[in-house]
Amino acid sequence: MRIPVVLLSWSLAALLGAQNTLGPGEGAAWIAGDGTVRLQGSASSEGPMGDLSVVPWLRLEGAEWGSRGVRFKCGTDPSGCGGAKGHGGVDLRKAVQQNCRRAILAWIQHGMGLRARVEGEAPARIRLVETFVPFLGSRLPPAEGLPTFGPEWCGEGQLLRASPERVAKWLADPAQEGFSGLLGRLGSGYAEGIFGVAGGWAFVGQAGSGKDLQTWVLAGSASTMAVFRFSGPLSREAALRRAGAMQVPLR
Ligand SMILES: [Zn+2]
Repeated sequence: MRIPVVLLSWSLAALLGAQNTLGPGEGAAWIAGDGTVRLQGSASSEGPMGDLSVVPWLRLEGAEWGSRGVRFKCGTDPSGCGGAKGHGGVDLRKAVQQNCRRAILAWIQHGMGLRARVEGEAPARIRLVETFVPFLGSRLPPAEGLPTFGPEWCGEGQLLRASPERVAKWLADPAQEGFSGLLGRLGSGYAEGIFGVAGGWAFVGQAGSGKDLQTWVLAGSASTMAVFRFSGPLSREAALRRAGAMQVPLR
C-alpha cells in the first residue's frame, strides 16, 4: 500500500512542529529576483526593533568597528544580557550573533563620541539620521548635536521601530548596496537546505517585553535577503525552523 505523499509530508511537518502559516501579528518580507519586496502576513505592522536595531548600526559603523577589531567584556549582569553570568569576552561577530546589547552600546557610545570629535556633532547627526530615519520616524527630539546614546538605541523600548516590510525595503534600497557582504561575514550559518539553498547566514533576536515578546529573523543567501517576525520568544533553532517552513525563496 502506498501512503499518499501529501499526507506523509504533512505529518512530517507536524512532527517537526514546522508551521508554514503565520499567526496574528506575524509577518515575512523578502526581496524577490526582480528587486521588489514581497510580503506575507502582517508584514507591514510596526513594532519595536529590539535586537534587530544592530542592523542599521552595522550599516553606519560596522566597517569601522570591524577594522578597529572591537572587543568587550560582558560580565555578571543584573540586566540579563547573556544571562546572569553575561556573555563573557566578545568580538564583533560574537556580540552580533549572541545579541550582546551591552557590547553594542559600548561601541555605539565610543564610536559616536569619536565621530563627534573628528567630524563635528552636526555632520555626525546628519549621518545618524540618514541611516536611522526609517526606524526613528519623528521620535528623535530636534537638536543640533548628537543625542545621548542609551539602551533605547540598541534593543530596549520603542525609539526604534520597524515592520518586516520596512526592513526589507531598506535593505533593497540601492543605498545599501554591498552591505549584505558585511552581514554575511557577521551572521552565523544556518543548516544546509533550511531555505532550500546550500548555505547562507542569519541573525535571530528578540524585541518587546513580557507577553508582547517577538522574535526577528533576518536571513540571507548570496543573492537575496528575507525578514521574518514571529510571536513569542523563540530559540534560534525554533525561529530558523519556522522561517524555513515559510518556504520563502532565498535563491
Ligand atoms: Zn552581553
